Amino acid sequence: MNISLTGKVALVTGGSKGIGAAAALSLSEARAKVAICSRNADEVKKTAEAIEAKTGHRVLAITADVTSQAEVDQMVQEIISSLGGIDILINNAGHVGEIGAFEDIPTEIYSSLYELNVVSMVRLVKAVLPGMKAKKWGRIINLSSENGLQPDPDMTPYNLTKAAIINFSKGLSMSLGAHNILVNTVSPAFIYTPLVADMLKGIAAGNNSSPEDALQKFLHDKRPNIVLKRAGRVEEVGAAIAFLASEQASFITGTNLRVDGGSVGSI
Ligand code: NAP
Repeated sequence: MNISLTGKVALVTGGSKGIGAAAALSLSEARAKVAICSRNADEVKKTAEAIEAKTGHRVLAITADVTSQAEVDQMVQEIISSLGGIDILINNAGHVGEIGAFEDIPTEIYSSLYELNVVSMVRLVKAVLPGMKAKKWGRIINLSSENGLQPDPDMTPYNLTKAAIINFSKGLSMSLGAHNILVNTVSPAFIYTPLVADMLKGIAAGNNSSPEDALQKFLHDKRPNIVLKRAGRVEEVGAAIAFLASEQASFITGTNLRVDGGSVGSI
C-alpha cells in the first residue's frame, strides 16, 4: 500500500519533538506539505529542517502556543498564505500534567490541563473547519492516550482530559461526516519519546542502574498491561496517523485507534 498525500497540507501541533515530530515525518514521507508548531522557535525550526532534508518536501516551522487564540489565528493565516490551506489537522500538543495522589493535586491543575489538552483542540478545529468545509475534504486526528480508557490512579487530571478527547472526536465525526471531514482519535501507550528517555535516565541515575534496566523495571512495575512488553516507538504512532490521514482510510471516522501494544484491557 502506497500512501500518497500529494497536494494535501497538514498541520501538526506540538510537532517539534516526540510523537508530533514522527507524525510530521510520516506525513512528509507521504508527500504532504507539512506545518509544525511549538512554543520553542529553535526546536521547531531545527525539526522542520531535519524533516525537509530527509524527505525533500516543504515543512513550515511556526512558533505558536496552542492555548492562545491570537497565536492560533495568526498561525492558521500564515499556513493558508504559505501552503494554500489546511486539509489535515493533527491535534497532538499536550502534556501529562501533575502526577500524584488525588488529594495532593490542586483543583486549578485540572482546569489548566483541560485548557491545554482539550480546549486547544476545540480552538484548532474551529480555525481549520471553514477551509475543510469549502473543499469538502478534511481529516482531523486527535491524540488521546491509553489513559482515556484505562485511567491511571496517579494521573487523574490527564485521564479526564484524554477521555474527553475520545468523546469529542466521536461527536465531531457525527456532525462533520456530511462534509466529508473524517475525525478520529489515536491513543498511544508508553511511547519512547525524549520525555520518557529523560525520565528513565533520571530513574537510572537515582538507582545506580542503566537506562535499559530502568526501562525494564518501569515496564514491569508501572506498565504491566503492555502485552508486547516493550515501549512503543514514535514512528509506530506516526505511521498510524499517516494512514488515518490517507485516502486509504476513507471509510474510517469516529474510531479510536489504540497504538498501545495491547495495553488497554477492554475489547
Ligand atoms: P512531548 O515529547 O512532550 O512533545 C509535546 C509537543 O507539544 C512538543 O513539541 C511541545 O513543544 C508541544 N507543546 C506543548 N505545549 C504546547 C503549547 N501550549 N503550544 C504548542 N505546542 C506545545 O510529548 P509526546 O510524548 O510526544 O506526546 C504527544 C501527544 O501524545 C500528547 O498529546 C500526549 O498526551 C500523547 N501521548 C503520549 C504518550 C507517550 O507515551 N509519549 C502516550 C499517550 C499519549 P514545546 O513544549 O516546545 O511547546
